Parts: sequence; structure tokens; C-alpha cells
Amino acid sequence: MVNLTGWHDTIIAPVTAPGTSAIAVIRLSGSKSIEIVSQLCKEKKLEKKHSHTAHFCVLRWEGEVLDEVVVTIFRNPKSFTGEDIVEIGCHGSPYIVKRIIEVCVLLGARPARAGEFTQKAFLNGKMDLAQAEAVADVINAETRAAQRAAMNQMRGGFSIKLSELRERLINFAALIELELDFSDEDVEFADRGALNTLVQELRNETEKLIASFRLGNVVKNGVRVAIIGKPNAGKSTLLNALLNEERAIVSDIPGTTRDTIEEVLNINGILFRLIDTAGIREHSTDLIENLGIERSRVNAEKADIILYLKDMTDATDNEMPWLDAYKSKVIPVGTKFDKWKATNPEQHLNASNNPVSAKDGYGVEQLKELMFEMVVSDQQQIEGNIVTNARHYEALKQMELSLKNIADGLNSNISGDLLAPDIRNCLYHLGTITGQVEIDRDILGTIFGKFCIGK
Ligand code: GDP
Repeated sequence: MVNLTGWHDTIIAPVTAPGTSAIAVIRLSGSKSIEIVSQLCKEKKLEKKHSHTAHFCVLRWEGEVLDEVVVTIFRNPKSFTGEDIVEIGCHGSPYIVKRIIEVCVLLGARPARAGEFTQKAFLNGKMDLAQAEAVADVINAETRAAQRAAMNQMRGGFSIKLSELRERLINFAALIELELDFSDEDVEFADRGALNTLVQELRNETEKLIASFRLGNVVKNGVRVAIIGKPNAGKSTLLNALLNEERAIVSDIPGTTRDTIEEVLNINGILFRLIDTAGIREHSTDLIENLGIERSRVNAEKADIILYLKDMTDATDNEMPWLDAYKSKVIPVGTKFDKWKATNPEQHLNASNNPVSAKDGYGVEQLKELMFEMVVSDQQQIEGNIVTNARHYEALKQMELSLKNIADGLNSNISGDLLAPDIRNCLYHLGTITGQVEIDRDILGTIFGKFCIGK
């Protein structure tokens, strides 16, 4: 549960990663932060300094020199949390960091809880909830696309548009509620035509955002790719070629890839999690192989994309009927093209099987392009507003439902008292995204608890 006790306290935490480094940064936020640090370098008179200024200071405590540091001051409200913030850039020794924090705590600061700086920023109205959640995504972003989507959301993203639509819907809600007060008199304060237009606008926006979630999921969590094929079809070799390095064990003995191996490949900023599965033989007698086969089926089920490899040089490499169930996500790949070409120079090539040669790299780049296009149909999409957060997605689905009810109600000219509950519902779900309604403390606790200390 979110802990709101003492949220006016002055809090302190290291904001750089633990361990030894050249420089470490310690941050204090709260009304006493300047006064606390000022006591460690009295001659600098930090309490008189302007916002957004940096000062070289020797920090001293009871005759002990703690460190030579650079102190940066941000005065409220122009700071990340909206409170006075002091950042101490000290030498990156874990001992120094610990000692400075200890002394600041003696002087009245409290060690920060996970995500507490961002929670303060939210509670002080510096950012809405969706933006605050994006801070964690920015920190955890593993690729360019994930960083862009998170940064876009942290800087406002779809919150701005949703807040604006919410304001307009609130105006209508107020007029409809007013009608309820005059229910005996059959008056209409809220212009139904204009309300209808607004509801359409909201529906369009909501639908767009809901549709973006598939891509958002891909951007944030990556794409699971199962590499499937008979033993010796060339799975491990292709995995190495895609990754451009020697990782999986390659051998001529069928069934060497006993277990599954997961590797990560970055294609144009999207993470692809490649899973090399044990070879599938329809009639295997080997117990371990059988376990591997079962695992392949599970991986195929869970995968977003299946690379189905068939050895072009092996006439006995037949179709796998069980894969038909996953047709829409299968990319057929013909392996060992170099070997096939050497023995079949005259034969017509069936390009729909995406021939590749892991040996000389033929077709490998095209295959990467194909994988990318399968999840991102339009590069432009990545630039726009993308929903990457499951909580937002659920709220949008609920909004979609209530908007449909409002639209249906307006179409059949129902009275204001019947429209009002759906409008309230829609406003509620909209508000949970940006945090403009009272949100369950447990939910807030879960959101901020996922952050690291110092954020
Ligand atoms: P897996 O059992 O499906 O993982 O197959 P491997 O990747 O272990 O490959 C089986 C054999 O086929 C190895 O001897 C590889 O060197 C060979 N092989 C794989 N890909 C190619 C290719 O593109 N060209 C040629 N000539 N040989 C390949």
C-alpha cells in the first residue's frame, strides 16, 4: 500500500547506481533540504543561493571532512518533485555516500522509500500519474523505441489530450447533473449534438490508444520468437547468424540442442527474444528429446512469431501439421540455401520460403526486415502516442464501454438521468489513467513500489 505518512518529510537517497564510481549523486527533497546541507558547509551560505545554481563545497561534520563535493540547488516549485531539492555530487565511494547520508539523517532527513521522489512529483502536481509511471519505463528502457515511447509519455504524451477531453466531458457532466436537479421541468441544458460530437472524439482517441497497445507491448516487452524445425534443420546456426556471433552449440548430431536457449536481438529498436527450441521429431523415442518436443510446442504457443525452418537440402524434411494452428504467426524459412544452390543450379527458387544461408549470410538481413515488419507495419507508429502500460489499457477498455453506452443512449434520445451514470463511469476511468480521481492507495503503492530507491 502507498505510504502517505510523512510525505512532507525531507527525504534523502543516492540517485546513482550502488557500487564504486567516479562520481555519485545524493539527492534530498523537502523543505529542510537546503538547511540540512547548508549546516555541512556553513561558510557557503547555501540558504541564500538562487535556484538552479551549483556550488563547490567541502562538507564537514564535527571536525571530520566528509568530502569535497558539488552541491546543486533547485528551489520549489521549479524542481522534479516541486519541493526544494539539493543534489550532492560527491566522490563515488560507497563509504562516502553512506556517511554523507548518515549525517544528513542525523540532521533531520529521512531515507527515501522506493519511488518516493516520483511519488512526491505526482502528489505535488508536477506530473500526472501516467507521466509518473513513464519515469520507471524511461529508466528501464532497453532499446531506442522503448526509450522514445516512455520519454514521449513522460513529457505528456496522451495525458495532455486525455486531460483536455476530460475537462470538456466534465462540463457536460455538470450540465447533465444540473438537468437532474430540474427533472420536473423537462429542460435540457446540455446540447445533445455537441455532446455527441465530443463522445465521438473521445471514442476515436480511445480506439486509437487501445489499438496502439499491441505495438506498445512489443516496444516495452519485446517480441517472442520461437525457432522451430526438425533436428539438424539449422536452428542453432541461424540463431548465431541472426545474432552475428557464436552462442548456441552447433553440431552435426541431430538433437544437440537439448534445451531451449534464449537470446536477445535488437532490430531497429525493437527487442526480439529468440528462443531456439529443441528439434521436433514427430516420432521420437528418446525421452529427453520428447521433453524438448513438448517444450517446442509450448514455445510455439507463447511466441509472437514462429520461424519455421526447413532444410532445403533434405527431402525428408516434411511439413509439421501441428504448426497449422499458428499459421498467422509463422514465417517459413528455407535453410542451407548455399548447399541447395550448389546441387540445384537450374531449379526455380521458391522465394516464399524465405531462403537463407547461415553459412554465407544470404537472406539473413531480409529475414530480420520481415520479422520487424510483422510487428511494426508502419515505422511512423513508433513516433506517435503508444500505450505501453497494461493498467492504462484496462482503463481505456472500460472507457470504450461507457462511451459506447453514452453514444447508444444519445442515439435513442434517453433522458439525462440515464446518461449520467455512464458519463460518470467514463470520467472515472479516464481519471484513473492520469490520477485525477481518488485512486486506491493499494494501486498507487503498487505503481510506486516498482521504482528503485532514489527515483
Ligand atoms: P539444429 O539441430 O536445427 O540446431 O541444426 P544446427 O544449427 O546444429 O545445424 C546442423 C548442421 O547443418 C550443422 O552441421 C551446420 O553447420 C549445418 N548448417 C546449418 N545451416 C547451414 C547453412 O546455411 N549452410 C550449410 N551449408 N550448412 C548449414
